[in-house]
Amino acid sequence: MRPFQLVSRDDHPEDTIITIRGVDIGGDGFVAMAGPCAVESRDQLFTSAEAVRKAGARVLRGDAFKPRTSPYSFQGLGEEGLQLLAEAREVFDMPFIAEVLDPRHVDLVASYADILRVGTRNMSNYTLLQEVGRTGKPVQLKRGFTATVDEWLGAAEYIASEGNPNVILVERGIRTFETSTRNTLDIAAVPVVREISHLPVIVDPSHSGGRRELVAPLARAAAAIGAHGILVDVHPNPDEAKVDGAQALLPEEFAALMADVDAIIAALR
Ligand code: PEP
Ligand code: MN
Repeated sequence: MRPFQLVSRDDHPEDTIITIRGVDIGGDGFVAMAGPCAVESRDQLFTSAEAVRKAGARVLRGDAFKPRTSPYSFQGLGEEGLQLLAEAREVFDMPFIAEVLDPRHVDLVASYADILRVGTRNMSNYTLLQEVGRTGKPVQLKRGFTATVDEWLGAAEYIASEGNPNVILVERGIRTFETSTRNTLDIAAVPVVREISHLPVIVDPSHSGGRRELVAPLARAAAAIGAHGILVDVHPNPDEAKVDGAQALLPEEFAALMADVDAIIAALR
């Protein structure tokens, strides 16, 4: 038996498709998930949500709890941010993903969000993985920035072994000797993981490259290599963003990216 038997294709050769409010993630589909890195205000969230929905995104992203390198940086709006996301879900008819940082917040975040996200810094927080597993809600599991593919799949197994098979893997770049990008996007991980695992795997071109200019090329690579989707930071005014403004796309840049990605998907089909 493998250390990640449940998420491997051994006993489950067909792709897992996770359906959330009518949106299918996995299989032959390609889903764009987009929105601001952090929820800052109603206006900022609603402007972003309306724009990404119009451009073809099917899932809204936006965090109420942020893992910041400095304790003095903006930490998120907390429950107020979740309430705004829940409102935006109804107005724009989009399920939303939000990060959960702490096992003590799992019930709170799960009471609002459609998909829970475990971020790169928490990929190996096994207590948190078990807690999100117990909710039964779909979980987006980002690859730890120092994790091998096997370690990442082992983390997914923690969630699955709690009886929750609804895991979406996110390749978001790993730390290497290279400093010209924020992290090195391990694009090869997409076909590597798809060969081993039946879970959907998507790419985050924002947190990997860390720079606005790199987001579209990395997103195109994700579509071309067979990812099941992308997770993209979009902000109506990136210069004023409280978190990750350098990598946020303007709404019109996101719309252009979506047109390219759609063309690539159509060509492959
Ligand atoms: C994010 O998606 O906002 C995030 C914090 O990403 P990561 O965990 O990959 O750094
Ligand atoms: Mn971010």
